[in-house]
Amino acid sequence: MSKNKLGENTICTHTGELEDKTFKGAVSPIYMSTSYEFMDVEIGRYPRYFNTPNQEYLAKKIAALEHAEAAMIFTSGMAVISTTLLAFLNSGDHLVLQNDIYGGTRNLIEAHFDRYNIEYSFTNGLHVDDFEACIKPNTKLIYLESPSNPLLKLVDIEAVAKLAKSKNMISIIDNTFATPIIQKPIDLGIDIVLHSATKYFGGHSDISAGAVATTQEHIDTIWTLAKNLGGNLSDFTVWMLERSMKTLSIRVKAQQKNAKKMAKILNKNEAISKVYYPGLKSHPDYKLAKKQMKGFGAMLSFDLAEGLDAELFLKSLKLIKPSMSLAGVESTMILPALTSHALLSPEDRAVQGIKDGLIRFSVGLEEVDDLINDIKQALKVIIS
Ligand SMILES: *Cc1c(COP(=O)(O)O)cnc(C)c1O
Repeated sequence: MSKNKLGENTICTHTGELEDKTFKGAVSPIYMSTSYEFMDVEIGRYPRYFNTPNQEYLAKKIAALEHAEAAMIFTSGMAVISTTLLAFLNSGDHLVLQNDIYGGTRNLIEAHFDRYNIEYSFTNGLHVDDFEACIKPNTKLIYLESPSNPLLKLVDIEAVAKLAKSKNMISIIDNTFATPIIQKPIDLGIDIVLHSATKYFGGHSDISAGAVATTQEHIDTIWTLAKNLGGNLSDFTVWMLERSMKTLSIRVKAQQKNAKKMAKILNKNEAISKVYYPGLKSHPDYKLAKKQMKGFGAMLSFDLAEGLDAELFLKSLKLIKPSMSLAGVESTMILPALTSHALLSPEDRAVQGIKDGLIRFSVGLEEVDDLINDIKQALKVIIS
């Protein structure tokens, strides 16, 4: 059976396994060496060259899942985002970014890119015309994120990829929220796919990692800077990540099934004024979601009805954890106004449609009935 004909669960389970030739163990051995033979060898291996056995082989799994030629693994999502952007941008270049991208990415750009004389523009909206309106003669990259955080708005990925191609620009997507199980941006024409592997790839809230998947040529460009910046992940954690990724497809599918049920139930609750989930027919991007995603993901957000105390609501939850991160097997909720979007001014938050009572819900693997009961009891506390 040809390797690229393997089904997704099989890729998750087996692609990029390291064979244990010595003891014939069932799982990949961990190679912790930081020192490798350099005479008479094909490649000189070293952790910061991103080519130790565990790094090299897990990258094959990620590339296979994203339908990419090659991939690299980093120590965090921000390590891969910063390294990739800086690998392609030179002083005097311009970059177009979607308005509502991950707060850390926005902060990286706003805090540092002026110093490097790299120009940037944030779009006014998420339509392809909004991206096109930002393009300048020196634009080199277009950067997007779909679904967006925390309102789960979608960008027409194929249209933006086409726009970038027509102008000889490189398109980059942060595919953390969707994962390759739900969305394969390279099939839609995107050049480079980035991940915070701290989220669904890791999936158990115990690994910090990042990944990029793209052509071998782009990987070579990224590698040239990456080996100098040094954002490589420890081989032990690479091995942990491999272990996690064996269940990526099964986890993401089960979590998104839960999220769809939750979205429908919350949508009927009177204490909740609005639910943001691309799988609801009322969501403005429902049709686009059907076109470019396989399912609708496991993230949703909702506004509590006017006057209800969102902080007290979070404090009253007993099962769902009020926690910063997302995408673990356990359900979590946060208030974007206090966390991911705290660095924005209240005006900027309002422009993005992020209300103070907006709650982002990362739906986990628990039973839907238990999640509903927890939400109901917390609502009772804040309504009484
Ligand atoms: C968390 C996150 C990041 C940053 O990843 P880290 O692993 O925390 O560095 C980037 N993009 C998105 C969409 C994220 O959710």
